[in-house]
Amino acid sequence: MSKPELNQQTIVAFLGDIFERRGGEEYLGEPVTMAEHMLQGAHFAEKAGEPEVIVVSALLHDIGHFTSEFGTFSMADTEDRFHEDAGADVLQDYFPTLVTDCVRYHVAAKRYLCAVKPAYFKRLSEASVHSLNLQGGAMSEAEVAEFEQNPNLKEIVKVRYYDDAGKRDDLETQPFSHYAPMVQRVVDAHFAGQV
Ligand code: FE
Repeated sequence: MSKPELNQQTIVAFLGDIFERRGGEEYLGEPVTMAEHMLQGAHFAEKAGEPEVIVVSALLHDIGHFTSEFGTFSMADTEDRFHEDAGADVLQDYFPTLVTDCVRYHVAAKRYLCAVKPAYFKRLSEASVHSLNLQGGAMSEAEVAEFEQNPNLKEIVKVRYYDDAGKRDDLETQPFSHYAPMVQRVVDAHFAGQV
């Protein structure tokens, strides 16, 4: 699929196409592909009965690994570095702030949880501990206080847990197409000014 004009009507198919073509790529250090990782996060969120906006946030939280697909970023941006900002930036024209905050702060949420919940660190995978160090380690007290100002803190932390859960090598998930109507509803609600 060549790059279409992105708008309310085309964004969901475009995202689905990225899952299809790029989703098989390795998630460095984890036993799942990038698509499996995001689909597993969405799977656990849906199973837990979360609102659609949380399921969609879990589904798209790592889309920043593929921002070169959106044509607005240089090749250098396809590296893992700051994929959370890149992902939020490409989604922000189509999705509510709740979704882009969950995407933008999913790495910060790991640093936050390491600071406020000592038991959380033990749950992290080896690769996630490694990247934690590159990302600045646990938050300082001042960083924690600032992070807690975000009105979407609860949802951001939730999506972080679904992110951590989505690293299993023994789980069959639904394809992107299962979530596409839900993603479209979240986009449509955003364009309708409801969220
Ligand atoms: Fe992730």
